[in-house]
Amino acid sequence: MSHFNRVVRVPGDPILGLMEAYRGDPNPAKLDLGVGVYKDAQGLTPIPRAVKLAEQRLVDGQTSKSYIGGHGDALFCARLAQLVLGADNPLLDARAAASQTPGGTGALRLAADFIGHCLPGRGIWLSDPTWPIHESIFAAAGLPVSHYPYVGADNRLDIEGMLAALAEIPRGDVVLLHACCHNPTGFDLGPRDWKRVLEVVKARELLPLIDFAYQGFGDGLEQDAWAVRLFAAELPELLITSSCSKNFGLYRERTGALLVCAATPEKLLDVRSQLAFLARNLWSTPPAHGAAVVASILDDAELKSLWSSELDGMRQRVASLRAGLVEALQPYGLAERFAHIGVQRGMFSYTGLSPQQVQRLRDEFSVYMVGSGRANVAGLDAERLDELAAAIAAVCR
Ligand code: PMP
Repeated sequence: MSHFNRVVRVPGDPILGLMEAYRGDPNPAKLDLGVGVYKDAQGLTPIPRAVKLAEQRLVDGQTSKSYIGGHGDALFCARLAQLVLGADNPLLDARAAASQTPGGTGALRLAADFIGHCLPGRGIWLSDPTWPIHESIFAAAGLPVSHYPYVGADNRLDIEGMLAALAEIPRGDVVLLHACCHNPTGFDLGPRDWKRVLEVVKARELLPLIDFAYQGFGDGLEQDAWAVRLFAAELPELLITSSCSKNFGLYRERTGALLVCAATPEKLLDVRSQLAFLARNLWSTPPAHGAAVVASILDDAELKSLWSSELDGMRQRVASLRAGLVEALQPYGLAERFAHIGVQRGMFSYTGLSPQQVQRLRDEFSVYMVGSGRANVAGLDAERLDELAAAIAAVCR
């Protein structure tokens, strides 16, 4: 008897497949706009200097590799909660706290298990489209997954469709919102949109789960947290998942947190006891290194200011690539058609290119992006924007 006879193969992650195809392409002028990591002008995903310095100190000062607690590194949790909610947020006295998780993905999975175990019967509502892993994480935790419209067929934010759908969601369900730098579209809600969403959330008594994976990549560390802080101030209860992968360049160190805001200090303790219990069954205790790095950066004024200026550099590079690409499309009469690329925020852009156009870009010009037309703007080369604009113009003809 074979135990594994009935095991069928599932398709690999399409973005990883795209990476493989890119690697195998012998064209020296190839361009990778697929995978979702930041790249610098040399095409590398750098380790920020502040991270290197903090790591050096850690290696010298570390005396034990014993487990850290179920909620992780206490200094990391305290400093990250301040970064997300604001240094002087009164909630941090007793009504809000962070639990360290392996990356933003771990935070999402812990949130999913918490909802499944402690709020049975609640469904979760995701934007259409959303980061594909959202779909599978919540399904894996056994939650009913549904969608609200987000971007219309015209490749624009569909705020009216979104609000109308949210108004129909069963009372008490969970709605996942992207704090900034929406993945995969790059379309973010404006302040007025957020206030309207908040009103529906209140009216329908929904529980928001805000995914905050790109703090500092949109408009700035504080600016990007505006909606999160608005919701935290206006609602008694809130879940926030935070990732340090992009803004600290710590991707492989799996560093993130699940923040909970509860109505009372007592309730916060109840919820956190459940999170520690659920995390025990998932990863027992979180990995230490990345969180220790983040804690030592955020706890040291000099390192923090170095890190924040490095983060400014990453954000500005992406912003100038966005503006540069739209400008490079001008001679082809396409600047208006692609003006949204300059308005979107974060690394990703729903370009509005069709799957056929994406395929032609790949076949004829060795430009690799996801079939949905999502491009990682950070993968662009400032010196080659004209080349890319010419390729886009060729497939748009
Ligand atoms: N949420 C979103 C929207 C993301 O794009 C990502 C990373 N691609 C994550 C969460 C998770 O990030 P990580 O687990 O790498 O910290």
